[in-house]
Amino acid sequence: MYKAKAYAAAGATAPVASTKITRRDPAENDVQIEILYCGICHSDLHSVRNEWSEFMATNYPIVPGHEIVGRVTKVGSAVSKFKAGDLAAVGCMVDSDGTCPECRAGVEQFCPNMILTFNSPDKHLGGFTYGGYSESIVVDQRFVLRVPENLTLAGTAPLLCAGITTYSPMRRFKVGKGKKVGVVGLGGLGHMAVKFGRALGAHVVVFTTSPNKKEDALRLGAHEVVLSRDANEMQKHVNTFDFILDAVSADHDVNAYLNLLGREGDLTIVGAPPKALGVYAFSLIMRNRSFSGSNIGGIAETQEMLDFCGQHTITSDVEVIPIQKVNEAYERLLKSDVKYRFSIDMASLKSK
Ligand code: NAP
Ligand code: ZN
Repeated sequence: MYKAKAYAAAGATAPVASTKITRRDPAENDVQIEILYCGICHSDLHSVRNEWSEFMATNYPIVPGHEIVGRVTKVGSAVSKFKAGDLAAVGCMVDSDGTCPECRAGVEQFCPNMILTFNSPDKHLGGFTYGGYSESIVVDQRFVLRVPENLTLAGTAPLLCAGITTYSPMRRFKVGKGKKVGVVGLGGLGHMAVKFGRALGAHVVVFTTSPNKKEDALRLGAHEVVLSRDANEMQKHVNTFDFILDAVSADHDVNAYLNLLGREGDLTIVGAPPKALGVYAFSLIMRNRSFSGSNIGGIAETQEMLDFCGQHTITSDVEVIPIQKVNEAYERLLKSDVKYRFSIDMASLKSK
């Protein structure tokens, strides 16, 4: 065991603050990674403030962070995939049983014994797992991803959650040429969905509540931008979409988007506001529409997504911040004031 510098919150109303945590020494299948960048996902904020208490209560202290890129510093004797000096990445999961039907199907996120990167029971050290707002992490090699060498690291970190969470349902619903695809909410997840939709060849329409994001949406790859609070603009798209990805972090009316789907169109929700969303039966039955959800993605698909990003030179648009600014970043996230992901430069943690 060793001590590592980290940032943690002690309670739902406490700030995220400097601390030291214990990490295990790498066992035979483990990879130890020096963390270089960690993205700030809205899920970090929901978790720190215990907003998902009904579904996934937070255990304190919490060290958030599940968009991790870094360099391997040490590997266990049985590790074949990585060696010291390699780039490596870790997303939302750090372990699963590897034997259940879900693991065998490559959807480890649904394994009954899946361990999240933070806020899951830590079977090695007791207590709960600690995430990426830290100088290093030790993870079983099965959950460590390879990073394409051509991508900037600060912009690669957010691919580990925002990237896979949008890539996975877009592939599942066969987003591609000839498809009209909507993206609701131009935040961390939403802006990745725009990039993927464009790279996959679809016609991409962004729905935003922020008029000042209009130009950016087009620059990021959208063909059209709709201000979702403008009823006239919304009306023009009724019954026309094949697929819509909803990445909104707060309460909102999903019926407004379901009504834009054409026959057998699907609206997949990836945003995770804590309150129930009211759906009218008529929003669904009128055109055999479906309303789905999607939860991150499995490890093999995460690697596929990273390789896709390497081939298409796709990274997240990031604002790099020192870790000392994390509480300020959370407040700005709540105001949709980030273009389009905060990425923490972990060198700032060392300097303290
Ligand atoms: P984010 O960067 O804060 O983006 C959320 C976007 O939602 C904002 O940029 C804003 O877009 C829109 N929005 C915010 N408040 C709104 C409101 N009151 N009404 C309408 N639109 C609003 O968050 P994120 O990191 O992308 O995460 C988005 C959600 O996905 C979070 O709830 C997060 O927990 C969840 N998530 C789910 C998974 C999964 O596996 N399903 C994985 C990761 C994250 P505009 O300014 O364009 O309107
Ligand atoms: Zn996330």
